[in-house]
Amino acid sequence: MKKSVRRAVIAGNWKMNNTPAQTTALINEMKPLVAGADCDVVLCVPFVDIAAAVEAAKGSNIKIGAENVHFKASGAYTGEVSADMLVACGVEYVVIGHSERRQYFGETDQTVNLRSLAALNAGLKAIICVGETLEQRELGYTETLLKYQTKMALTGVTKEQLKNVIIAYEPVWAIGTGVTATADQADEGNGFVRAAIAEAYGEEAAEAVTVQYGGSMNAKNAEELVSKVNVDGGLIGGASLKAADFSVIVKAASEG
Ligand code: PEP
Repeated sequence: MKKSVRRAVIAGNWKMNNTPAQTTALINEMKPLVAGADCDVVLCVPFVDIAAAVEAAKGSNIKIGAENVHFKASGAYTGEVSADMLVACGVEYVVIGHSERRQYFGETDQTVNLRSLAALNAGLKAIICVGETLEQRELGYTETLLKYQTKMALTGVTKEQLKNVIIAYEPVWAIGTGVTATADQADEGNGFVRAAIAEAYGEEAAEAVTVQYGGSMNAKNAEELVSKVNVDGGLIGGASLKAADFSVIVKAASEG
């Protein structure tokens, strides 16, 4: 299977930005700009913005995602939100294991795996983030680390569930820094992720999985990044907060 038959996914990750009112305004601005895109368009928003986002996106091609999910179904987990709660609110996607969660909130490969299983068991599409730090890259561990993180995240995920998995290769040194991986680095990293999936599930299954690149992707560099054979769209932070920039990235992925 070639890239031409994998569907690209452009997903915005709003991080801790936008109130519900700002959410409605931004999605209303984006809707006409991304209508008719030949890729999947997703906005992952803070929990408190989900209701506004789902309402604003109604009738459009924009799907709504969350930025995290807890792995337990319910109980004494103050401040957490379960997969079933997200589904009940109209959420279809969820970002799991973002490097900011790993860096600031104690996320580990084990909890990434648990969250991924909870999301997939609830019928959500899981956007699972993997990526190396600059130090790990410079020490030559990129391939080993990406394969390890990918396989750990997918432990216990069935071949059927793999159809709802998106992996986002996000080099930590490129996130929110303005330093983008070169298109070749992105392609290589995504290739390592795909190779890990192939080792676990076989070539055919791996070829069908959408593998995004994320890390300072913007309106200027998106076209070159998504032109690469292993880059099936992107996870977009900063540039997803601006309708015009986000729509240029969506257009690049539609044509890439
Ligand atoms: C992200 O948040 O996943 C991300 C890639 O951020 P940015 O595009 O701002 O680097």
